Amino acid sequence: MSGQAVRKVVIAGGGTAGWCAAAALSKLLGPLLDITLVESEEIGIVGVGEATIPTCRTFHHLLGIDEREFLRATNGTFKLAIAFEDWARKGDRYIHSFGEMGKSSWMAPFHHLWLQARAEGVAGPIGEYGFEYQAAEAGKFQTGENARINYAYHFDAGLYGRFLRGISEKAGVKRVEGRIETVAQDPESGFITELVLQSGERIAGDLFIDCTGFHGLLIEKTLKTGYEDWSRWLPTNRAVAVQTESHGALTPYTRAAAHDAGWRWRIPLQNRVGNGLVYCSDYLSDDAARDRLLSLVDAPALIEPRLIRYQTGRRLKSWNRNCVTLGLSSGFIEPLESTSIHLFQIGVTRLIQLFPLAGITDALVDHYNALSRNELEKVRDFVILHYALNEREEPFWRDRRGMTLPDTLIERIALFTESGIAYQAPDDLFRVDSWVQVMLGQRLEPKRWHPVGQMMGRDQMAAALGNLKGGIARAVAGMPTHEDFIRQYCAV
Ligand SMILES: Cc1cc2nc3c(=O)[nH]c(=O)nc-3n(C[C@H](O)[C@H](O)[C@H](O)COP(=O)(O)OP(=O)(O)OC[C@H]3O[C@@H](n4cnc5c(N)ncnc54)[C@H](O)[C@@H]3O)c2cc1C
Repeated sequence: MSGQAVRKVVIAGGGTAGWCAAAALSKLLGPLLDITLVESEEIGIVGVGEATIPTCRTFHHLLGIDEREFLRATNGTFKLAIAFEDWARKGDRYIHSFGEMGKSSWMAPFHHLWLQARAEGVAGPIGEYGFEYQAAEAGKFQTGENARINYAYHFDAGLYGRFLRGISEKAGVKRVEGRIETVAQDPESGFITELVLQSGERIAGDLFIDCTGFHGLLIEKTLKTGYEDWSRWLPTNRAVAVQTESHGALTPYTRAAAHDAGWRWRIPLQNRVGNGLVYCSDYLSDDAARDRLLSLVDAPALIEPRLIRYQTGRRLKSWNRNCVTLGLSSGFIEPLESTSIHLFQIGVTRLIQLFPLAGITDALVDHYNALSRNELEKVRDFVILHYALNEREEPFWRDRRGMTLPDTLIERIALFTESGIAYQAPDDLFRVDSWVQVMLGQRLEPKRWHPVGQMMGRDQMAAALGNLKGGIARAVAGMPTHEDFIRQYCAV
């Protein structure tokens, strides 16, 4: 494709995706590269995206980020779970926690034993056997050197970008302020050669990373890569977002409460709360969404609500010619499971692993695209699951129930229903426990399961589950509240 060595990397856009890419490339490949990031304060960033999943910690670890410094800089809090309210039916509540449920055996994951124990009347709700689940419910948190707790973060998106910018600039990234007006291409190969700014400044590069958000300036407006629309499965297309004053206890989880045309998030930070109403414009008007959000928040608003429009789907190629797209320019799976930040953090990690220092080849690009596509489709299926398995009666929910699902998801649902089997494929982000918690939470009940529990017998199961529950309850009772822990942990 191009034998040209890649030394000069140009990142277009300085939202969370742009600065994550800049920080990772400069910290991990810095001496080999010359990195420039162009951003426009006038255009600004999308300004939402404040909940993560545990892989964010791995990304920080790779970059040598100090956790306390990061939390102080971003008003960050800890996240152990997402609490789903009113999803399968109004009045329902379940938690998707990041922890493991119970103790699995090599024969079968824990939920098979639990299903048998429940059938024999000796098991409580599955959440009683999850440490992170119980800590989330109790509003407790604690971590430390040898702590075995699986968690993620909530943070202020604007402050996170600034924090990563500091890291990037220290590692040699050059930041250019200005609006990109045109993108120059090589007439033969179609490769991007330069970004031309409104000021007339020209920024040349070997590899361009499109982080221009929904604008998709390089990957779509220039390279016309194409977009696969997923709105037939994930039809929400708007969100109205507002920040409010802190109120009540600092919950170590995100709240996701369903409403008649979508759902609403609540993300607590140290100094404020992020709130948003996600909806489908076919079922709810923008004005009604705004009014509904403002009537449901539990404290005074700090800013005017902002409307954000989107279309769920994926860019047909994550890497096209000499342009890699990361962040919203690469596509968007709606924010229900907070996967966007993960997807571009893993995207830039993959780019580093496959970095085309000696030149970009078709095989490399195809490989990168195949990996990205697989991963994205699995995440898509996981999010669709929440909508597909519902028993609500409003038109929006009835229509979701009737949709034709991707074959991959049909197969998963059938497997769980018929035999209780849930699995994590090699390129699956979500673990068995995540699939199980959401499937059970959405009221999908297996008809059969593995006989591991039958082998154990009723009394032994009851004793084992009692011990598990007791151990978790004691550990959680000894933990500080989330708020107290942050106060002490982030003290300078
Ligand atoms: C409603 C909603 C809720 C979300 N919640 C979550 C969540 O909880 N968790 C999660 O992981 N993700 C979430 N996301 C996704 C998350 O917000 C984004 O993935 C993340 O913010 C990265 O955005 P970005 O950097 O790709 O784009 P942006 O933040 O839009 O940044 C784009 C950058 O490109 C620059 N730019 C654009 N055009 C030009 C130009 N012509 N010249 C120069 N610069 C230009 C802009 O100035 C800006 O710096 C959510 C998204 C939405 C819409």
